[in-house]
Amino acid sequence: MHKKSQLTNLVPPKEKAVALGIYTHRSDKWKAEQSLEELSTLAITAGADVRKIYLQEKPRQDPAYYCGKGKLEEVKEFCSGHEIDLVLFDDALSPAQMRNIEKLLDRKALDRTQLILDIFAQRAKTAEGKLQVELAQIDYFLPRLTGKGTALSRLGGGIGTRGPGETKLEFDRRRLRERRTRLLKQLENVKRIRQLQRSSRSEIPLPIVALVGYTNAGKTTLFNRLTGSKGFASPILFATLDPAMKSIRAANKQLILISDTVGFIQKLPHELVAAFRATLEEVVQAHLLLHVIDISNPNVDEQIDAVRQTIQELGVENKPVIHVLNKVDLLESDTSMLQSFRNRLGDVVAISAETGQGLEELVEMVAKILTDFWQRIQLTIPLQEQSLIAQLHHQGKVYGKNYTDGHIELDVELPKKLAEKLRHYSLP
Ligand code: GDP
Ligand code: MG
Repeated sequence: MHKKSQLTNLVPPKEKAVALGIYTHRSDKWKAEQSLEELSTLAITAGADVRKIYLQEKPRQDPAYYCGKGKLEEVKEFCSGHEIDLVLFDDALSPAQMRNIEKLLDRKALDRTQLILDIFAQRAKTAEGKLQVELAQIDYFLPRLTGKGTALSRLGGGIGTRGPGETKLEFDRRRLRERRTRLLKQLENVKRIRQLQRSSRSEIPLPIVALVGYTNAGKTTLFNRLTGSKGFASPILFATLDPAMKSIRAANKQLILISDTVGFIQKLPHELVAAFRATLEEVVQAHLLLHVIDISNPNVDEQIDAVRQTIQELGVENKPVIHVLNKVDLLESDTSMLQSFRNRLGDVVAISAETGQGLEELVEMVAKILTDFWQRIQLTIPLQEQSLIAQLHHQGKVYGKNYTDGHIELDVELPKKLAEKLRHYSLP
């Protein structure tokens, strides 16, 4: 007999929740509805059961209560009548709003940021992922700590109180800061180890293709299709948190590394964008991005925008991108829609990761862009150009080097654009 494994513990009771959002203008109502629906999916992912959704038109957020106080009274009454423990808010709440709201409702309130943090906390698997989630949790809670640290003893347990930071969140501000410093040191160590692993990997001159896209777009399904593996594809948001990487062989025998990544999302808390930059290092390292798009989603345009914004925040907007229009199997055979994507986005390919339709064309496009992307070149560079030499070692694949009086001769494969800029250094 195991001590802990009682069947009742395996399936924790769902927390009952309601979700609440506001929109500033009538014309934004539809968007707000979609956003609330996404919040509910996030809530389900975190293990809650959303019983009711409230949407209020409000020209500006109430600085004390986010929505109207009357609306909150209404919510409170419903919660009391239906044993609801949790009220979810679709935007980031200020510390003051959070305090006032929890006091008025007399139950746990969570904003979008905390909900996403909670899901990340549940799903992070690697040491680095866990450290980063805890760091993000501390960065979220630190400015919200008032008085003598009692603010962190949230009402009850469950969603929003889980994760590596759970017990530590009882600490006072000073100890949280100390914890934060220690976390940063540990992260540094983990990163150093990963760096070592990566540099041994970069001995193999393989181009990296990173799958990016909105959460639930079908990245993991595509990754599994392309690599023949059995990752965890799921309608649950953020099923993939730690990046996976595998190699495939394109039609021209070119080996390519493909990496699956965490999905992007609208209103991604900025604490997490920063914290997960490192987890998205594969994206920063990639030579080509496949932006996977769920064209069957009614919010496809917003999702494309959200992904593009994140791509910019990561500083990788100059990398070549193929827009992969996924889930065509769910579309009526409507070619005008595909055409309009083509006009807007440039390089697109329509596929179904589920049925395999269009995959050959995709792989051909990938191989073509990657051959066009690289160029092998021989350069002779004065040794005093230290930063250029470092850059070439960093961005290129060095096949050979030779030192002659005051110069270094490099046989190096570089992104074509860079190679062209350096043509004046090339050997006659
Ligand atoms: P990710 O969050 O981008 O990694 O998305 P997943 O690969 O986990 O897929 C999300 C959901 O979409 C899963 O339920 C998949 O089965 C489904 N899905 C993915 N690709 C397709 C497709 O081409 N057609 C259809 N009908 N469903 C798909
Ligand atoms: Mg995934």
